[in-house]
Amino acid sequence: MGRRPESRGKCTFCGDSVVFSSMTKHLQSCVKRQEAVGKESSAKRSKIYGLKVWAAYNPAYWLFLEAAESTKLEDLDDFLRKTWLECCGHLSAFTIQDVRYEVETGEPDFMAKTFDEEESKTMDISLGSVLSSGMVFHYEYDFGSTTDLDLKVLWEREGRLNKKGVTVLSRNEPIGFKCAACGQPAESVCTECGDEKAASYCRACAAKHECSEEMLLPVVNSPRMGVCGYVGVDV
Ligand SMILES: [Zn+2]
Ligand SMILES: [Zn+2]
Ligand SMILES: [Zn+2]
Ligand SMILES: [Zn+2]
Repeated sequence: MGRRPESRGKCTFCGDSVVFSSMTKHLQSCVKRQEAVGKESSAKRSKIYGLKVWAAYNPAYWLFLEAAESTKLEDLDDFLRKTWLECCGHLSAFTIQDVRYEVETGEPDFMAKTFDEEESKTMDISLGSVLSSGMVFHYEYDFGSTTDLDLKVLWEREGRLNKKGVTVLSRNEPIGFKCAACGQPAESVCTECGDEKAASYCRACAAKHECSEEMLLPVVNSPRMGVCGYVGVDV
C-alpha cells in the first residue's frame, strides 16, 4: 500500500516550502525568522510558546503557532474554531495531563454528559499556567462527530509578538483532492458516500452524482472537511 506523501507548507518568514516532519527544525534555524525575532521589542517581553498542532487521525493537516504565556486556552480554542473547525457551535475541550478544560457555547450537546465524572475546568486559564516545553496535549471539537487534534509545545522563549493571541508560523498547503470519477481537481465531498478520498468530486461529476445535493460539502483545507455542516472559511 502506497504511503501518502507528507503535506508541505510555507514558512511565513522565508517562504520556503517544507514538509511537516522538517518544519520544527526549519523554524528553529530559519535566518529570516531569527531576524524577525531579533527585531522584537525589548519592552514588555514575556514567555512565548511555540506550538505544533495536527489532526490526530490525518497529520496532512497541521499548523505551527506561537502565543504568549498570557494567552488563554479559550483564545486558542477560538483560533482553532475560526481557522479549522467551527460549523455550528459544538462543545470543545483540551485535555492536558489528565485534566479536561471545557468551553460552553450555549448549544446543548448530547454527548457532553459522558464526561461529567472526570475532573474538568474551564478554558479561562492562561497557557503559562498549564503548558511547559515538550508537553503533548489533546483537543476535541464536537463530542458527537469529533475532530481530534494533537498539540505539542515545541519551545519556550522570551520575546514580544506583534499580535495579541495566536500567531501562525506555518500551515499545510491545500491537499489537492482529485475527483473520484474523472481525476480532475475535486471541489466537493459527498458526506453520504463516506470516505473522503472515494467521495470527492469535481463540479461536473458532482452535478451527476446520485446522492442529493444537500449531502455535498466543499473541499476545504481543514481536518473537518466533510464533517457535520463544515464549509470552511474565506481566507
Ligand atoms: Zn523560513
Ligand atoms: Zn456542526
Ligand atoms: Zn470529475
Ligand atoms: Zn454520494
